[in-house]
Amino acid sequence: MRITIIAFILLLSATSAQAELRVVTTTTDLAALVRIIGGDHVDVEALCRGYQDPHYLEAKPSHMARLRKADLMVYVGLELEVGWLPMLVNGSRNPQLRAGNPGSLGAATGIEILDVPTGEVSRSEGDVHPLGNPHYWSDPHNQIVMAGTIAERLSRLDPEHTPDFESALASFQTRMDAAITDWKQRLEFMQGQQIVCYHQQWEYLLNWLEIDVMDYVENKPGIPPSPRHISQLREAMRRAEISVVLISNFFEPGHAKRVAEASSATLLILPTSIDGEDGLDDPFLYFEHVVSSLEATRPTGG
Ligand SMILES: [Zn+2]
Repeated sequence: MRITIIAFILLLSATSAQAELRVVTTTTDLAALVRIIGGDHVDVEALCRGYQDPHYLEAKPSHMARLRKADLMVYVGLELEVGWLPMLVNGSRNPQLRAGNPGSLGAATGIEILDVPTGEVSRSEGDVHPLGNPHYWSDPHNQIVMAGTIAERLSRLDPEHTPDFESALASFQTRMDAAITDWKQRLEFMQGQQIVCYHQQWEYLLNWLEIDVMDYVENKPGIPPSPRHISQLREAMRRAEISVVLISNFFEPGHAKRVAEASSATLLILPTSIDGEDGLDDPFLYFEHVVSSLEATRPTGG
């Protein structure tokens, strides 16, 4: 009898261990949110590292193998991953991950998308944001929306643990709301300030902080700057006395550096994702790093 009970308990614990949802996300930011909301009920991994450019991931057989076993795939969308993800999903032969199935989740649901092109845009001309700006996770308010979308889908796939997902979402939101107020206050001195960015990827962050983008170092999203653009930009930077140039740590900083020198601006090289630098392994640590880096550009003695 005792042996039967032990066997039964062992069987139960084995079943509950297997019941973890296997989640694959494209980016580390999405993986962190899945981890925060899903807790012990999920096993999650990101395909792209935090320091890699999510526009151009080199697709590998190991990525395909991970997708093959996944119950859920969460992606950014707006064609950010269009250069590599469809191929991996096809190759995984996992029907659950096909668009429209519960195993496929685009995290842009409910997000107000910025920089939606009004004219005709063609990727063939190199523009990598044909459906609008896909870098929406850089506004911490959007992190709450994304966490909500994830909680909803985890509940659908694993209804038994819905109360856990809902309470994780509620505590995340409370903590994030408080952090947002603190971050915004600390950067009040930058409101209305104009800065220059390398790539069109900081708009959600800057929109939230009420900081303006004067121009980009890239000619268009995904298109490296021409010498003519660089020299015009250097001139405009001098006139506008731009003091901050912002670039993601996955781009080569040479052009941005030359541009920053024109007006003796600070060149801020920042990660655009969680784990983009060591130790930034959750959204709070990540945003704290971004905010304190911007805070450090405050002129002294003024
Ligand atoms: Zn982009």
